[in-house]
Amino acid sequence: MTDPIQPSRRDFIRHAAGAGGLLVANPMLGSGLASTRFSKGKTRHIILIAFAGGVRTKETFGRESNIPQLKALADEGVLYTRVRTSNLGHFGAGLSIFTGVATQRGIRENSPGSAPTVFEYLRKGLELPAGEVWITTSGGAQQVNYASSLHPDYGPKYAATTLDGDGIFNDEFKRLIGGYGLPKEFGAGEQRVLGSLRGVLAGSSESLQSELDSAARVESYIMQELARGATDVSGSNAADIKALNLARNLLSVFRPTVVGVVLQDPDVAHRSFNGYVEVIRRNDAAVGEIVRVVREDPVLADSTAIVVLPEFGRDRDLNMRRGLDHGDDSEDLNFVTCTAWGPDFGRGRVINEDVRTIDIAPSLCQLMGVSAPQARGHKLPGLLG
Ligand SMILES: [Zn+2]
Repeated sequence: MTDPIQPSRRDFIRHAAGAGGLLVANPMLGSGLASTRFSKGKTRHIILIAFAGGVRTKETFGRESNIPQLKALADEGVLYTRVRTSNLGHFGAGLSIFTGVATQRGIRENSPGSAPTVFEYLRKGLELPAGEVWITTSGGAQQVNYASSLHPDYGPKYAATTLDGDGIFNDEFKRLIGGYGLPKEFGAGEQRVLGSLRGVLAGSSESLQSELDSAARVESYIMQELARGATDVSGSNAADIKALNLARNLLSVFRPTVVGVVLQDPDVAHRSFNGYVEVIRRNDAAVGEIVRVVREDPVLADSTAIVVLPEFGRDRDLNMRRGLDHGDDSEDLNFVTCTAWGPDFGRGRVINEDVRTIDIAPSLCQLMGVSAPQARGHKLPGLLG
């Protein structure tokens, strides 16, 4: 039985595209205009994945069958086997990857840091609009603080656009989905609607064209979100998978300059070693999906750098629940492994000398020709090809 007041799918799509207001309002989204400002090298896009939640090398490059995707990436890139972490709790340690500064986070942890993030450096230095710099997080109130700092020269006006596990689905959009139902996939009918919507948009005045292009991309993005199941993932690492899938979809639709991802679900290790290993394996597979999008995209394939590392490792020995905590000051905790892959990086190179997680942000800024004056880390040795 059909409901006579049920709006059409076409209305749904139009509303959905409108619901992505923050994107539509930004006509420079995904324009690629910024690419002329880069200084040198081939890298035009950066994907920085905090493979976080506390992940030991023992379960990654110490057992490569757990991480076939990262292994494949490392084989074509640079592998840093001794990356000293800043063991400041998950949030502080994760943040230090993005700021290049190891700042102890106190009891008021749910606030931005004082040191600018790599997002702010790149947005300011390359004059990037908000639509070019994104961070997807696995959720949690703290994680919005990865987007920008309180630094007076940087701060919110240079923040990354943040998507948590619920993605772009703000309240308005959720209401729409509630009223219209969630389509599982889009068939020929929906594609025709999409095509006719594009036709309407294309017939509008030329002065609006760039904004309408953005609207079309937003609409396409939303379609992908729905069709590719970013929202109905289940399982113990659903939040991580959503964050990785959001990043994948953002890349395939917008090709933004910077995408950061922050994961957290491996922390199930506190109570379950086996659960932790399973999360690592699934997160590796989802990272592989991002890599596949990059490899198959004619623009991204030869212009994208991908860097993946945990914020810290875990204890050497199991706890009484047969889980793994993080606090024993062991090498397993204090050193992680970092994979760096990209057109300007070395290939098949393994660096065994000590580096630090805080070296990542300044090295990526340097790669893009931007200074990171507040960062305390140094240029990663052996990174460039
Ligand atoms: Zn923990």
